[in-house]
Amino acid sequence: MSLQLGLIGHPLEHSLSPKIHKAALSSCGLEGDYSLFPICLDDQRGLKDLLTRVRSGEITGLNVTIPHKQNVISLLDELTPTAQAIGAVNTVSMRGGKLIGDNTDAPGFWADLQRFFTTETRRHGGIKSVLVLGAGGSARAVVYALVNDGWDVTVTARRSEQAQAFIAQFPTPNPRITSIEYCSTALYSLLSTLSLIVNATPLGMSPNVDASPWPTDLNFPPNAAVYDLVYNPRETRLVRDARAAGLPATTGLGMLIEQAALAFEIWTGCAPPRDILWNAVEN
Ligand code: NAP
Repeated sequence: MSLQLGLIGHPLEHSLSPKIHKAALSSCGLEGDYSLFPICLDDQRGLKDLLTRVRSGEITGLNVTIPHKQNVISLLDELTPTAQAIGAVNTVSMRGGKLIGDNTDAPGFWADLQRFFTTETRRHGGIKSVLVLGAGGSARAVVYALVNDGWDVTVTARRSEQAQAFIAQFPTPNPRITSIEYCSTALYSLLSTLSLIVNATPLGMSPNVDASPWPTDLNFPPNAAVYDLVYNPRETRLVRDARAAGLPATTGLGMLIEQAALAFEIWTGCAPPRDILWNAVEN
């Protein structure tokens, strides 16, 4: 049987997902293909048609990315508890006759954060205090993962009302989550307490590679590690600056690979070897 997998989103030209999933298929000895389905935000018909093809079994599974992670939800039969809690779906499959939406961004981020801590750094003194820059869709997955591990989370966004709404709407209202103004003065007061900074804004993403989400007039916290969800370029300005200041830092390529591998496992039952997936994106 040939497995038909793919990605819905827009734009998709620079997606690394086909490389990752084709390597996964071959490493698991499975026949199939991974296609890109560019569907614009207002093309509800296109979105519905693709989901119908999953229902019929013509398509085995779909990944979902911007701008459909939220609006696909109303077209599905069920969400997994993780997708429900985050309020976003990145993986669709048919299981038990139902069209199910899952979210592998949170466990993907978590798995890669563990790799990062193990290979490049150790959390300073076991302190679990993180600053998340940005309050959009991926920030929700990141915060969900961190809160589940007992981290104190501070969220900051250029629109403070967005950061406040983020906290208010978070599925498990939790005293550990607070927001702070996105400016040097406010962030300065946090510096000594932080052990991790996560960038969940697109700042620094190609082609705007000179941009950084970290204020230019603010030093990095002395004991923090930096995780940048942006993975294109391979070394972002934020990661470069943090490393230059002596901090362990990584981009989000590992998260991309982990979320893909976890989606692949949902569709096929096969866990692809991660080193093969890394090779696929690095060559
Ligand atoms: P999103 O839902 O659009 O949220 C982006 C957040 O960043 C929002 O709070 C947004 O604020 C803020 N932002 C945007 N432009 C900004 C600017 N110029 N200055 C300050 N804040 C700004 O996007 P997302 O899905 O969370 O994705 C964010 C980034 O993470 C993207 O670069 C994406 O490629 C990356 N990502 C990586 C992975 C991975 O596997 N590594 C997974 C998911 C996402 P406004 O609402 O005010 O614009």
